[in-house]
Amino acid sequence: MSDKNLQRAQLSPAKQTLLEQRLRGAFAGLGQGNRIPKRPAQATSPLSFSQQRLWFLNLLQGGSSQYNNSIAQHLTGNLNMAVLEQCIQEIIRRHEPLRASFEATEGQPGQRIAPVLQVSVQCLDLSNIVESTRREEALQSLAREYTGASFDLAAGPLLWVAVMRLAKNEHVLLVVIHHIISDGWSLSIFWKEFVALYDAFSSGQPSPLEELPIQYADYAAWQRSVLADENLGQQLGYWREQLAGAPTILEFPTDHRRPTMQSFRGSRCPLVLGETLTTRLREFAQQEGLTPFMVLLAAYATLLYRYTGQRDFLVGTPIAGRTQPETEPLIGFFVNTLVLRMDLSGDPSFLSLLKRVNAMAAGAYAHQETPFEKIVEALQPERTLSHNPLFQVSFAYENVLTFASSPANLSASPVSIDNGTAKFDLSLELMETDGNLWGSFEYTTDLFEADTVARIAAHFQTLLEGIVAHPEQRLSQLPLLTEQEERLLTTLSAEANLHSLGTQKETAPGSSSFHRLFEVQVQQTPAALAATAGRGQLTYQELNARANQLAHYLRELGVGPEARVGLSMERSLDLIVGIIGILKAGGCYVPLDPGYPRERIAFLVEDAHLSLVLCHERLRERLSGAAQRLVCVDSEWERIAQHSQGNLAGGATEDNLAYVIYTSGSTGKPKGVMVTHRGLSNYLLWSKNAYQADKGRGAPVHSAITFDLTVTSLFTPLLCGRTVVLVPEEGAEAFPLRNVLGDESGLSFVKLTPAHLELVANGLPPENAAGMTARLIVGGEALTGEALAYWRAHAPQTLIVNEYGPTETVVGCCVFEQVAGEILPGPVPIGRPIANMQLYVLDRDLCLAPIGVPGEIYIGGVGVARGYLDRPDLTAERFIPHPFASEPGARLYKTGDLARYRPNGDIEYLGRNDHQIKVRGFRIEPGEIEAALAGHP
Ligand code: AMP
Ligand code: MG
Repeated sequence: MSDKNLQRAQLSPAKQTLLEQRLRGAFAGLGQGNRIPKRPAQATSPLSFSQQRLWFLNLLQGGSSQYNNSIAQHLTGNLNMAVLEQCIQEIIRRHEPLRASFEATEGQPGQRIAPVLQVSVQCLDLSNIVESTRREEALQSLAREYTGASFDLAAGPLLWVAVMRLAKNEHVLLVVIHHIISDGWSLSIFWKEFVALYDAFSSGQPSPLEELPIQYADYAAWQRSVLADENLGQQLGYWREQLAGAPTILEFPTDHRRPTMQSFRGSRCPLVLGETLTTRLREFAQQEGLTPFMVLLAAYATLLYRYTGQRDFLVGTPIAGRTQPETEPLIGFFVNTLVLRMDLSGDPSFLSLLKRVNAMAAGAYAHQETPFEKIVEALQPERTLSHNPLFQVSFAYENVLTFASSPANLSASPVSIDNGTAKFDLSLELMETDGNLWGSFEYTTDLFEADTVARIAAHFQTLLEGIVAHPEQRLSQLPLLTEQEERLLTTLSAEANLHSLGTQKETAPGSSSFHRLFEVQVQQTPAALAATAGRGQLTYQELNARANQLAHYLRELGVGPEARVGLSMERSLDLIVGIIGILKAGGCYVPLDPGYPRERIAFLVEDAHLSLVLCHERLRERLSGAAQRLVCVDSEWERIAQHSQGNLAGGATEDNLAYVIYTSGSTGKPKGVMVTHRGLSNYLLWSKNAYQADKGRGAPVHSAITFDLTVTSLFTPLLCGRTVVLVPEEGAEAFPLRNVLGDESGLSFVKLTPAHLELVANGLPPENAAGMTARLIVGGEALTGEALAYWRAHAPQTLIVNEYGPTETVVGCCVFEQVAGEILPGPVPIGRPIANMQLYVLDRDLCLAPIGVPGEIYIGGVGVARGYLDRPDLTAERFIPHPFASEPGARLYKTGDLARYRPNGDIEYLGRNDHQIKVRGFRIEPGEIEAALAGHP
């Protein structure tokens, strides 16, 4: 770098931009070239626009400490208190604002400058606290007390000075000044003057400082005259156009719901980019001919876009506001806020974003004199006390070199003080010292948890590394997650989390089909009860023999692999014989609910091209006409029974279809989901182990076989010698289930929906609850902790599993298991994927969503269905190429479900995407999704 460039690089970004503009002669600032005159002598003088806003806010918020600025310097060496006080007094003498107070006359605020003002320096001795950590704590708490107290604007003084003595030669100087008379730049002037004066006074010299040309109040009066209507109108014209149609809310995913009134309580999360990254960023900026500020701003915009999905939003940035040279040595409130409109449309590369941001910033800087409050007035965004108008996130890049100087016989170093406030929702503040970029994210604790912001900071770091490595990459493709997070989220598995998981040996893909596994079980437990229905019952041996007879018969009728056979029966032993018979013949079953209207059955028979439907005699009439061939298993049994009871050879392989289940979807016509034996077996073997289906008697089947959630109860018990309890169909929908369950005890598991769960809890005598079943497997709809209160109270040993899954990926592919005794309110997570399945929460560009950020669930693995029957377009749309898999041809099912990762990797379901529920920037409360859904067709 040339000397000149080096000097320029040390300027603050605002100054650099200003310099660039002046050099280019392009600067169109107001009143340029006219010096600011001294104001006429008056008892009170007008406030600048920004002072007026702050004064008004102070009135509104009743004096808050949110607008306190402070300097805290650790001083080592022999401190001369008398000289220190003399310096402070001289600084106060030099700068009128430090003697100002604010009062309203006839509703108009004015500032009154006291001719002299004595501010006593408070001395606090902490040196008797021996232990250094306790001393440090005491210091911090005192400092917080000072920085956290509120000034009385009408009475003044508006600064406090304190010296904390830590040891003989160790002190901390703390200066707190209200923002209405100061800004960051003012603080550095204060310090610079202090250093010069201390050096002079301690050696008996007079002040070396030049008298100030003008004072802040002169500037305020001048600002009001140059920003008279006409000029201001011109400036505002630019902002109106620039900000037209911009969203004024950034919907950042937060941990907490936004309160109706901001508390401004905040905290900070430190960010240190390190020397290597800082160097690379600086080099990259130089190569692009831009300041590091521009690069960091564009990177920050990228981060915000990746968190919110918004490509058009506003970011605030402070600007020094000292465009007139004579304002440079003044203490006062000059800083203004620039509103930067980020345009990330069209997923540009980072390099092109950088160009856009640079052009946008140049325009904004050229109109930087418009006070922020005037822009707000002109644009009239919705005003509320719940968020900052126009923007809620900000970015500041500061130069703190000005605090690095020390008096000759003292060595000073800045002390960082957390004053527990936040100006905005999220602010990134960066500075560069000693070749290191560092700073912090300041955040409001109204909205964020510390862990969340720590993750945001880590993501920003990853992003910056990705940017300097591949600035040509599109924004959507830049890396965001840390390696550790990415590893966690791509290797999630329920195995690690289930309390009671059995071994997983059998769940490897390539295992046998259901009917083969069943045949193995028949040999092991031939006399065990396989199924009951009312008074009827079948042993394993009997069930197998009957299913074989039917299968042989179906084979004669031409059923084999890929043949679809309709099945329309009420819950009965014949139903289970029918299903197993179809599978043994090699075919796949297509359940048709006998309760469906005639037209719907006709549609399904037609759509699935069913030439054969199994039914009961009493449904014959209802089905005739729809299907070419009906087989009534009851009335035709004699003929069927003539066939062999022996197992059949051949038949379906892993890749053949096991069933086609129609899902209605909220819109459009029903579609047949084609599920293969491979996917079915994977689920069944997994559930058998994970749910310990071999403990207990078996499971009740109470739901329709047209819902795939029934698969668990219908098949899993048959793989471990347990009983399928077919609950009779008659009576009110919920009544039999409640009755049956009330009488049952020692069940292996009960599978139901949250709605069923509630019905059961309503009717079940509490004393029967604990012994009823080892496990409740709840699926099909969102589950909340509140729905589990009954079980927590009456059956604390019962394990509760939240099982999630669309029909397209076989019954359930993601589970969360918890002991009833440990339930928390709010949504119960859906947990983690089962064996040989993967779940990902992805953003619109199919990149992993960071922890906490809503995305859509995509599912991969052996359970992914073949697709929709005869719907190639829809299949291609919903079953997409797997972006992360190494095996060729692997696909992901796009669910349309919204979710987000919890910090430990568990997935939390948020609702359906299809309904276009807007996930606003806060934690979704229980019931909210339901409420939102209720409002949608
Ligand atoms: P289906 O294909 O009919 O089984 O419906 C699957 C859909 O039901 C999923 O895409 C989810 O929207 C919803 N769903 C299933 N299980 C759960 C669950 N445990 N929690 C929340 N939603 C669920
Ligand atoms: Mg389902």
